[in-house]
Amino acid sequence: MTVTTDYLVLGSGVAGLTFALDAAEHGEVTIVTKRAADESNTRYAQGGIAAVLGKDDTPEAHIRDTLIAGAGLCHEVVAEICAREGPERIHELIARGAVFDKDERGELSLTREGGHSARRVVHVADATGAEVERALVERVKAHPNIRIFDHHMAIDLITLGQFGGPDTCVGAYVLDDRTSREVAGTQKSHRVETFLARATVLATGGAGKVYLYTTNPDVATGDGVAMAYRAGAEIANMEFYQFHPTCLYHPEAKNFLITEALRGEGGILRLPDGTAFMEQHDPRKDLAPRDIVARAIDFEMKRIGSEYVLLDITHKPPSFIKEHFPTIHAECLKFGIDITTQPIPVVPAAHYMCGGVSTDLHGRTSIPGLWAIGECSFTGLHGANRLASNSLLEGLVFGHRAAKKLAGQITELRQAPYPDVPDWRVGNAVPSDEEVVVAHNWDELRRTMWNYVGIVRSNARLRRAARRISLLQDEIREYYWKHLVTRDMLELRNITTVAELIVGCASARHESRGLHSTIDYPGQSQDLAHDTVMKRGVPPHLRGK
Ligand SMILES: Cc1cc2nc3c(=O)[nH]c(=O)nc-3n(C[C@H](O)[C@H](O)[C@H](O)COP(=O)(O)OP(=O)(O)OC[C@H]3O[C@@H](n4cnc5c(N)ncnc54)[C@H](O)[C@@H]3O)c2cc1C
Repeated sequence: MTVTTDYLVLGSGVAGLTFALDAAEHGEVTIVTKRAADESNTRYAQGGIAAVLGKDDTPEAHIRDTLIAGAGLCHEVVAEICAREGPERIHELIARGAVFDKDERGELSLTREGGHSARRVVHVADATGAEVERALVERVKAHPNIRIFDHHMAIDLITLGQFGGPDTCVGAYVLDDRTSREVAGTQKSHRVETFLARATVLATGGAGKVYLYTTNPDVATGDGVAMAYRAGAEIANMEFYQFHPTCLYHPEAKNFLITEALRGEGGILRLPDGTAFMEQHDPRKDLAPRDIVARAIDFEMKRIGSEYVLLDITHKPPSFIKEHFPTIHAECLKFGIDITTQPIPVVPAAHYMCGGVSTDLHGRTSIPGLWAIGECSFTGLHGANRLASNSLLEGLVFGHRAAKKLAGQITELRQAPYPDVPDWRVGNAVPSDEEVVVAHNWDELRRTMWNYVGIVRSNARLRRAARRISLLQDEIREYYWKHLVTRDMLELRNITTVAELIVGCASARHESRGLHSTIDYPGQSQDLAHDTVMKRGVPPHLRGK
């Protein structure tokens, strides 16, 4: 089957849905998304969205805060665009049905988060993303110009260059992954369809699954970045992966984040033997910034060879704990941990990918016809470290900007017929009879990244990781060509490419800056205030921002 459309959007988080709604005003939009339409990082966002809406706030202050967090690597023009255009995007989101918390005067309730010099974060209790996703998915489903293919996974971008033509992206090959329903008479379909578009928009989100511990849901496997890299696009700043300091550590718990507010209310980080340790790392102790706390935990875990540390709030009255942290109390109880009497085992966890597919100020990548928005993109907004609540904002702003830019081009783009490209070739591939290869390699990759390319790095650890990743890639390649594609295998292939990119960028940055910390280059260098760029076939290099 071949599907043709004006705009092909890969992913249905805040960025993809925002783009789709705007673009649907001037063209036909097709959204392809890996699982259910609302499954995304967006859905799990807790804190909120940063935008200058308070009386005492200014765009200048928001820009300044963003630049400070980014440790000299933010592209100032992008910070300015997001700060100035953010408020309008929030009003648009409200018009699209998102209901944010209000204060007693009936105005938007704005909270203040770490790194922000003013109250500027709009939110919906501690579940902002769920409300944003709900509102946008509802709108998209009701729009006559938008089709959604859920449980469909993009495998690879289609560029005419693959068939001897110019280096232009014209769509994607997509796996129909509806396992629960019968498709074409088979229980599990391996059907791959061709989607052709005037413009293809990557909105595939982050890649937290590259690390053993992550706050991200299972869909976050860096597919967009990997597909773009294979297609020859420029990827930048992948060394800057943000870790959240405290995620619940329990064999059965998946991705449960313990909010920083728990430390704000007196929670103390301790070693498994009960010793408090933050005092040795920062005078602000447990209230030090996120990246310092994450590094301190990592240091202590490596020093004593422990799998976790403890976060202790038992010295507060049980009524206080239950009132302030009802969700955490209830969730931990499910795993047999009563936080009013027991400390919580925690580990830092991969949270946000600051790098991604490099774009211009409208979301255009280095490949004609290919656009990237949201967490999978690198616009330059976050620099070496993301300011809290700036990521949903970036998705809104760039989703809108990309759609607006394309509105001016679509009539001309429609003049050319859709190209004639071959169907996906199965060759001699057969169904897999050894899923264990995929499961084993997933585990090995995530452990390798966690142990060698995590919060604190070194040249030796990066070299070790590079060797292992290369071996895994050989195995995955062999497996890939022999077997019919499955989502699990495709995700493994993609996440291994993301690992290669993180290691490549980290190896090229000979300093410690923002989220990239290495014991071999502990200082920050003025000469290295550049982006790290990777492109297939070209060694990683630094480029002026
Ligand atoms: C626990 C948590 C809390 C957070 N809190 C905040 C916060 O308070 N404020 C803030 O600003 N940010 C927060 N973030 C970050 C923020 O949620 C994300 O950066 C943002 O939602 C990314 O939006 P997106 O549209 O780029 O991607 P996503 O929302 O991740 O959407 C990506 C979409 O692409 C789909 N997809 C992926 N690969 C493929 C493929 N191959 N084919 C088809 N579809 C594909 C996915 O299924 C998904 O639908 C948080 C993140 C997490 C995990």
